[in-house]
Amino acid sequence: MDAGVAGNTLSWMAAPQRPPRAELHDEVEQRLGALEQRYTTGRRAIVEILDAADRPLTVPELLDGADARSLAASSAYRNLNVLVEAGVVHRVAGTDDHSRFELAEELSDHHHHLLCRGCGSVADIKTSTRLERALADAARAASEESGFEVTSHRIDLVGTCATCRSAS
Ligand SMILES: [Zn+2]
Ligand SMILES: [Zn+2]
Repeated sequence: MDAGVAGNTLSWMAAPQRPPRAELHDEVEQRLGALEQRYTTGRRAIVEILDAADRPLTVPELLDGADARSLAASSAYRNLNVLVEAGVVHRVAGTDDHSRFELAEELSDHHHHLLCRGCGSVADIKTSTRLERALADAARAASEESGFEVTSHRIDLVGTCATCRSAS
């Protein structure tokens, strides 16, 4: 593999650098500002809870994690929609009807998801260099065949979680 190809592969594979937390809030404020939206206490509470979580959260889980004064249930949905629109928060599709939310990848880190068909849980799973290399190869092949330029990927592993397996 020549250096140019390796360089491209690596830049495509590179996990986004997780920004320091002060920069996280600056970045969120800028993204909201671009939509003429303010970074309110309620929105900051959502960002802080999602940043601390180790998996995507449903709205009830978000509210559980919040100080009731900083995040009212009545405004949580509207605030989440604004954060999704601003590219701060990403809505994660699951195997059940619940919407789950996480910070956008550029604001957190690159990972994949484990989706349980039994209980609908969604867990984050760290990726490996080996898997990312294999995906980069697959993306390059798909790109050569289709002319489609691949800029990122999402992988959901679907199955049965340990809790559901031990219950059956
Ligand atoms: Zn399960
Ligand atoms: Zn990956």
